[in-house]
Amino acid sequence: MTQAPAQAAADATDAPATAVEGYPATYYAATANSAPPPTPLSGEADADVAIIGGGFTGVATALSMAERGHAVVVVEADRVGWGASGRNGGQFTDSIAGEATLRRQLGAEAEAFLWHLRWSGHELIEERVRRYAIACDLRHGHLRAAKKRRQVPGLRADYEALASRGLGDQVAWVEGAELRDWIGSEAYVAGLVNWRNGHLHPLNLCLGEAEAARSLGARIFEHSPVRRVEYGPRPAVVTDAGRVTADTVILAGNAYHELEQRALRGMLFPASSHIVVTEPLSDDCIRALNPHRLAVYDCNHIIDYYRVTPDNRLLFGAGCSYTGRDPADIDAAMRPLLAGVFPQLRDVRIDYRWGGRIGIVLNRVPQLGRISPHVWYAQGYSGHGICLTHIVGEALADAVDGDTARFEQFARIRHKRLPVGRTAGSAVVALGMLYYRLLDKF
Ligand SMILES: Cc1cc2nc3c(=O)[nH]c(=O)nc-3n(C[C@H](O)[C@H](O)[C@H](O)COP(=O)(O)OP(=O)(O)OC[C@H]3O[C@@H](n4cnc5c(N)ncnc54)[C@H](O)[C@@H]3O)c2cc1C
Repeated sequence: MTQAPAQAAADATDAPATAVEGYPATYYAATANSAPPPTPLSGEADADVAIIGGGFTGVATALSMAERGHAVVVVEADRVGWGASGRNGGQFTDSIAGEATLRRQLGAEAEAFLWHLRWSGHELIEERVRRYAIACDLRHGHLRAAKKRRQVPGLRADYEALASRGLGDQVAWVEGAELRDWIGSEAYVAGLVNWRNGHLHPLNLCLGEAEAARSLGARIFEHSPVRRVEYGPRPAVVTDAGRVTADTVILAGNAYHELEQRALRGMLFPASSHIVVTEPLSDDCIRALNPHRLAVYDCNHIIDYYRVTPDNRLLFGAGCSYTGRDPADIDAAMRPLLAGVFPQLRDVRIDYRWGGRIGIVLNRVPQLGRISPHVWYAQGYSGHGICLTHIVGEALADAVDGDTARFEQFARIRHKRLPVGRTAGSAVVALGMLYYRLLDKF
């Protein structure tokens, strides 16, 4: 897929070679399990379901469909997991973007729906990792940390809600000096430890799920950008060299695709987030920084997020450029943020750096819907997509099977639409986020 120049610049680093071909030079690509050589789409194909995009939305949905016996085709512009799914922070958590909107709009149904959203993605991922023996370094343990006193009551309320719903043995409240036993940073005042949440190697999960889907008969075509969708009782997705006709077409390109903007314009805005990965740190250093190897993020509106990799590197993500552009020098932009949490790493060597696009939705609720009876879309996880994409995949598979209840719960959420295209929209969202950035700061 053609990249915006800023994105291409962020991907072109002097990091070590990747273990798989055709990916940006990330830590994940350098440590990826093998992937079969890409097969581009050529000629005519027919399927029950054709999915545009081979990230978690596309691949998790394809696996859900294939497990139920549907003939499914995924058409990916680059490689499986090339987009956000193969570049993210790897944190799977119970955090639900858009929770307040869901409560407001769903009324009495909200509580049960939110509880389902909170954990069913974890269960599905864990079950797939076991069933298909996907080597993706899945590890439990997470800390959500308050940087400011005023963030403590909300975090504490979340802790109490989890404890009162039976997760008391999976969560812990830590505060003051005790916090230093969990995280070697002076940046926080309190934290919620959660052993139900955790972290993993997202590209390897995506590649593993793609392999599982293939083993069940799914066909996955890569290096095949979809140019257009043709509508009708049996719609088709069309690439330069081929076409797939299907009963249902699903757009799953999230912040990377620009298809069907007449219908989807003003709904989703790309923002970019960045990650740096340090050189391997000594065991002593890891014991001092993060002895339980937790995934961590803070309670700010624009979060820092990090975790320790199996080879003792700190994988640190932060910031969010709501203009969707990458800084010219990612290391220079990220070092002060990293040093703000761990001053002891001020001069650490950075081995990898990259950016990726997040699909921001104004009310933060994932968007599922229909452009026509047979052309659907699923997008917009606002930076919390690892679990949600998997939940959405099951909802889409249920809907193909005729059970539209979960699909409709998402589809009937009212979304605000900005009457502008993606670039202008991202600028408007950037302005809004400036407000939150200032709130975080002061
Ligand atoms: C830096 C970063 C850190 C993040 N950290 C976390 C985290 O720690 N935890 C978490 O839960 N979430 C995180 N997220 C969010 C999460 O990664 C996403 O929500 C999720 O991966 C979205 O999956 P997706 O399949 O919808 O989109 P993507 O993974 O972006 O996949 C879309 C795919 O569609 C393809 N495509 C686009 N246009 C076309 C076309 N015309 N034809 C064919 N294919 C096309 C693209 O090539 C791409 O592969 C992070 C995101 C980023 C960028």
